[in-house]
Amino acid sequence: MKKKIAILGSTGSIGTQALDVIAANSDIFEVEVLTAQSNADLLIEQAVKFKPNVVVIGEETLYDKVNAALEPLDIKVYCGQKSLASVVENENIHTVLTALVGYSGLIPTINAIKAGKHIALANKETLVVAGEIVTKLAIENKIDILPVDSEHSAIFQCLVGEYINPIEKIILTASGGPFRGKDRSFLKNVKKEQALKHPNWDMGAKITIDSASMMNKGLEVIEAKWLFDLKPEQIEVIVHPQSIVHSLVQFEDGSIKAQLGLPDMKLPIQYALGFPRRLKSDFPRFDFINYPNLTFEKPDLETFRNLSLAFEALKKGGNMPCILNAANEVAVDAFLRDKIGFLEMSDVIEFCMQTINFIEKPSLEDYIETDKSTRQAALNKIK
Ligand code: NDP
Ligand code: MG
Repeated sequence: MKKKIAILGSTGSIGTQALDVIAANSDIFEVEVLTAQSNADLLIEQAVKFKPNVVVIGEETLYDKVNAALEPLDIKVYCGQKSLASVVENENIHTVLTALVGYSGLIPTINAIKAGKHIALANKETLVVAGEIVTKLAIENKIDILPVDSEHSAIFQCLVGEYINPIEKIILTASGGPFRGKDRSFLKNVKKEQALKHPNWDMGAKITIDSASMMNKGLEVIEAKWLFDLKPEQIEVIVHPQSIVHSLVQFEDGSIKAQLGLPDMKLPIQYALGFPRRLKSDFPRFDFINYPNLTFEKPDLETFRNLSLAFEALKKGGNMPCILNAANEVAVDAFLRDKIGFLEMSDVIEFCMQTINFIEKPSLEDYIETDKSTRQAALNKIK
């Protein structure tokens, strides 16, 4: 029997690469569900090729267009956020790949876990917002959360076979993004066109800005806490501009394991979908001879304040990472619309972290409310 996969966000950077992986392994995987927000044309094209049973288009005004194209193929079409949240409960699905952007991934992921689906998690914001609730639900429902994020996939791969051995610390590598080595006077005036040019990875707009501001690494620090059950002091960040060493784990005997490869998201996507098997691939191979200098340096926390704000949120716990995430989503959106400067993104986040009501043990409703009130506060601050 083939593994039936639901891809939430199939038209994005991760989603399209996941479909490439599935196409190359069509004897193992089958697509059950595809979803997009507004890219109806690509969603239709994908559905015609992969023949899922169900597709969801987020934008309700596009329903008629998608339905007209796919109904004759016997593909069920739904629209809107509610359908996105419930489509994951479909009994055929084995694994849900969460490749949506930001907070929008939270409720569909929770519903998928409750319905007993394994999660291939690209949408790191889900764990940043409500990691405690999500990981607890995963244990209760006996499902795997398999990381797709390359750093976390690296750590996960290093931990295979090590389940009786406690972790001393993990070392998350960061490329440093397009502005590595720059100072604040340079960053003050950078435009979105510069920030959208990542040196090593081709990704969606939101995560590309997060990488430029180092917030991506901050979100990943919090993601790692929940995936691997770590204390803040067990998580270290090191800048590695070549993005070849994808992350490392140090055990209690001092030994360090790392996972290496060329920067290509298809590998961690395939590992998560194929787990526990490693599937054969024709991805380009890494060769040490082409990389005589693999270098490592300390992150610059003074210039890239977002990373220290994320560590602060991690240490504080409660709803603070949720506040950080919501403020960041609003700030990134405002930066992409030329409403605020690059450095002002950190100001907005810090303002929200200082002013939004702190809750030590939030319920899911508290997280939803925190997200809402933080967005409003961030928008007011930007105005
Ligand atoms: P993209 O922006 O490329 O794609 C996002 C996908 O989600 C698209 O299919 C989009 O539909 C859909 N979508 C966007 N907003 C909503 C919404 N509000 N509701 C429902 N669907 C929505 O993002 P990426 O693929 O780059 O990133 C996806 C996730 O994976 C993020 O959480 C990111 O942090 C994480 N990630 C990405 C990596 C990468 O290399 N890209 C690496 C590691 C993690 P439409 O196309 O119609 O707009
Ligand atoms: Mg990553």
